[in-house]
Amino acid sequence: MDEDVERILLDEQAIRERISELAAEIDRDYEGEAPLLVGVLKGAVMVVADLARAITLDVDMDWMAVSSYGSGTKSSGVVRILKDLSADITDRHVLIVEDIIDSGLTLSWLRTNLRSRGPKSVEICTLLRKPEAVKVDIDVKYVGFDIPNEFVIGYGLDYAEKYRNLPYVGILKPSVYAD
Ligand code: 5GP
Repeated sequence: MDEDVERILLDEQAIRERISELAAEIDRDYEGEAPLLVGVLKGAVMVVADLARAITLDVDMDWMAVSSYGSGTKSSGVVRILKDLSADITDRHVLIVEDIIDSGLTLSWLRTNLRSRGPKSVEICTLLRKPEAVKVDIDVKYVGFDIPNEFVIGYGLDYAEKYRNLPYVGILKPSVYAD
């Protein structure tokens, strides 16, 4: 796997440190509450696992799987739920946890969907944000890293279901998806 990586963008230590900082912010912002972390499968699995362990509040975890129709490395904003939450989120503080925001279309749809279910609040936490996402009007409360417009893999992120278990975030060699 490593041989397909052009360069490491964020190593394990950088990710660990930033996740602790985000967890400290979440601890502070939700003091006295028990937020529900909603991880978006499959990419956010590592982020949720590490973030949940760094948060000191009581948190619940739940998962959604959505597929945004698109081809190759771009999404279209047309979203289908593959797996819905098992929890009722009425009157809950919900924190959506994502691996990466690119166009923001998937998350914008997801937030609207969750808001319609009567929660107390819905906020977003993403480990990575690409430049496109800064342009769209989506309010993301917690951002781990702003990264360049490159296709990244590792730490949950895949290309064709591969590379999710790399412990770092790396830039995939374009030759891997060109052929
Ligand atoms: P958006 O709707 O924000 O454009 O798309 C977000 C989704 O596209 C992410 O959840 C992820 O599945 C995928 N995605 C966007 N950029 C990347 C990237 O650089 N690497 C990987 N592996 N997936 C990406």
